[in-house]
Amino acid sequence: MTTLSIIKADTGGFVGHSAVHPDMLATAQDWLRTAIGDRLLLDGKVASCGDDISLIMIHEHGPDSENIHEFAWNTFRATTQVAKRLGLYGAGQDLLSDAFSGNLRGLGPGYAELEFTERPSEPVICFLADKTEPGAWNLPLYKMFADPFNTPGLVIDEKMHAGFCFEVYDLYEEKRINFDCPAELYDLLMFIGAPARYVVHAVESKTLSEQGAATSTQRLSLIAGKYVGKDDPVLIVRCQSGLPAVGEVLEPFSFAYTVAGAMRGSHHAPFMPVSVEHAHPSRFDGPPRVVALGFQVHDGTLLGPRDLFADPAFDRARDQANTAMDYLRRHGPFEPHRLPLEDLEYTTMRALEKRIAERWQPMADAAAVSLATEPTSATTV
Ligand SMILES: [Mg+2]
Repeated sequence: MTTLSIIKADTGGFVGHSAVHPDMLATAQDWLRTAIGDRLLLDGKVASCGDDISLIMIHEHGPDSENIHEFAWNTFRATTQVAKRLGLYGAGQDLLSDAFSGNLRGLGPGYAELEFTERPSEPVICFLADKTEPGAWNLPLYKMFADPFNTPGLVIDEKMHAGFCFEVYDLYEEKRINFDCPAELYDLLMFIGAPARYVVHAVESKTLSEQGAATSTQRLSLIAGKYVGKDDPVLIVRCQSGLPAVGEVLEPFSFAYTVAGAMRGSHHAPFMPVSVEHAHPSRFDGPPRVVALGFQVHDGTLLGPRDLFADPAFDRARDQANTAMDYLRRHGPFEPHRLPLEDLEYTTMRALEKRIAERWQPMADAAAVSLATEPTSATTV
């Protein structure tokens, strides 16, 4: 069995939160090269989106492997050292502990891992996002694996016609559930339509009993007990031969749907599909970006990447994202541009509530005061 792991972390931004410094990428590249030489990894690539470094790795250690996670942890410690040396912004911000223990769960870095037996042809797409959260994948995963208006294969491909099973996590209560689709489509949507709390973790083909998709589902805010940065998510999707075709997997991103993230992780903004060259959000720390790196996995090597959103067919989605961004920005500090109070990454509310607590009066008394001062014989004109 082969495992594809994407492990990612923000260990420092250049400039501000907009990108990763080339020296940090070079350091991560050196570590990957060594790990391939030591046969820890079969193959690996370094990629980035915004201020996050992703290690895309092929190996035979299975998901949640201590060896692989510790390797990623040490690599991110090394990129943190580079960020500190250069005075980059938020150096080491996603490394929440001083020590590694067993695996990365709860330590800060995000990861998506998918184990499979390599098919004769194994096309996979690695999606990397910046300035948003794991629930951002709910809408496109629904479209890829459950919506025949997006994926005609659900209707006309015998290997897809029976549908897919969605595994959903409740990030607040740390529990999970499976939905059998299409039979339970409406049940599924009731939950994943609330992406701040319910996140699709994996999708499996009912016909092939093969996993088609895996997401990163960690939320830094909940891990750390306080917000220390939106957990920019990654997603792996396997394609073709009973799974959605490459074009069916990319099609949902032709619509710049709205996600939570952007400036201070505290705003709704459109999700913009971009080429690697344009994966550096600088306007209002946004709009949130997504890149799609296509690989053929062959004999344990990663052929690629193909920069799949470097295609004029996504220009209209980018235009739509810019139009939607202008529209939402004009709301300034008002919802729905600003996130609801409970989802804000930064808030002054607790301090404010404390400071002005005694100035709040019961509304009933306020009404009595105002009625008492009104002239009794007033007429309305
Ligand atoms: Mg980021």
